[in-house]
Amino acid sequence: MSDLAALFARAAEIGAAYRDQIAETPQRPDATYVEMRARFTGPVPETGGDPAAILEEMVALAAPGLNATTGPRFFGWVIGGSHPAGVAADMVVSAWGQNAGNHAGMPAASAVEAQAADWLLDLLDLPRSASVGFVTGATMANFVGVAAARGEILRRAGWNVEADGLIGAPPITVILGDDAHATVYNALRLAGLGAGRAILVPTDANGAMIASEAEKIIAAAEGPTLVVAQAGQLNTGAFDPFPAIADALAGKNAWLHVDGAFGLWARAADDLKHLAKGLERADSWAVDGHKQLQTPYDCGYAIVKHPDAHRRAMSIETSYLPPSSAAERDPSQLVPELSRRARGFATWATIKAFGRQGVADMVSGCCALARRLAGRLNQEPDIRVVHDVILNQVAIRFGTDRDPADADALVDALIAKTRADGVCFVGPANWRGERIVRVSVSSYVTTQADIDRTADALIAAWRAVRG
Ligand SMILES: *Cc1c(COP(=O)(O)O)cnc(C)c1O
Repeated sequence: MSDLAALFARAAEIGAAYRDQIAETPQRPDATYVEMRARFTGPVPETGGDPAAILEEMVALAAPGLNATTGPRFFGWVIGGSHPAGVAADMVVSAWGQNAGNHAGMPAASAVEAQAADWLLDLLDLPRSASVGFVTGATMANFVGVAAARGEILRRAGWNVEADGLIGAPPITVILGDDAHATVYNALRLAGLGAGRAILVPTDANGAMIASEAEKIIAAAEGPTLVVAQAGQLNTGAFDPFPAIADALAGKNAWLHVDGAFGLWARAADDLKHLAKGLERADSWAVDGHKQLQTPYDCGYAIVKHPDAHRRAMSIETSYLPPSSAAERDPSQLVPELSRRARGFATWATIKAFGRQGVADMVSGCCALARRLAGRLNQEPDIRVVHDVILNQVAIRFGTDRDPADADALVDALIAKTRADGVCFVGPANWRGERIVRVSVSSYVTTQADIDRTADALIAAWRAVRG
């Protein structure tokens, strides 16, 4: 074997060995950031080294600080399982060194994105003529949607924001649900719309906008208007009332963007698609590949119904890259970056690995497992799931019979205990002023047995910390 083949084979072997024992690996990192920082501390190497030795050193140094996010009982944040088909594709993409910028320079990377984009629109049942930018995740996809919205609603108001900026532009009314994701505020900030001037629509117990309140606020909105709605609230999985929002926006100079980082995938499953009804009437959507679709990190999609507005907001003109016609896809016209990872390959491979029915079964299966976990926990007298289990997210209050401040402290103790036990990884969050445990069932590897083990582990840990 050549040195190169041996090196790449070793990288693949390390990856496979890691994944092969992931089910038995404690569901936590074993070292803290401070410990890991010390392990990686040292001066700039004065001379170059041998790639094979560097790989071994890196793997040995990193090991204690890895979090087993691809494990079957990892329920932190909303993290997909990095399906092997996508991982293998990404390994090859790295070796190829392709840069998904321009169709003429990198024809394969551009073409596979075009195909993967068509498949995404089909699976999500969104307008087939929409444009799809491949970004790092829903954070950037929210930004792309907001930027396209800003340009288009100001253009209709006679203002060219791409040329003239926001200084002196007509004000944009921005409307969000009160339980919008933090990254939506980030997108507003990046787009110059301000995180602090959005009008917040009151939400119901599940965190969804109350339709009548949204209608009232939208009816009173003046000038160019941007509404950011949500498909899948982070704690509860709730969906905003899209038909009511879209109806209220009719006839206005308005743009509806949907943050559907994980929830948009409800549209791919027969038993869940009713939740996302009406959101096809939006103007743009943010959705992740690396959460519910199980592509490796990083991968998200910015989908825009109005390709011209999308391109105006993002396009990069250079003297040295050939322009694309309607027949060609230039990835860099649809995202903030020029050079970036060729994410289309991993998306293409992951969709092929599941197939349409496989995607539907996986999405729907995660939600069934979330309902099973909630059912188990709700049987305990002092444990309560604090919302309707709508999708794959479960927010749980422990110590419902206690003084709220005592229960808050016990929830943190419970999280610490679960980390020490290592059976499942769950995270804390705040919901309606109370500390909760959030469980996100979002990996294709999680089974019913894993859910039952998780329920047992959470209940046992709870009994241990409450005394
Ligand atoms: C995860 C998430 C985001 C941010 O997505 P990234 O992939 O982390 O960039 C935005 N909105 C919601 C609802 C999310 O769950």
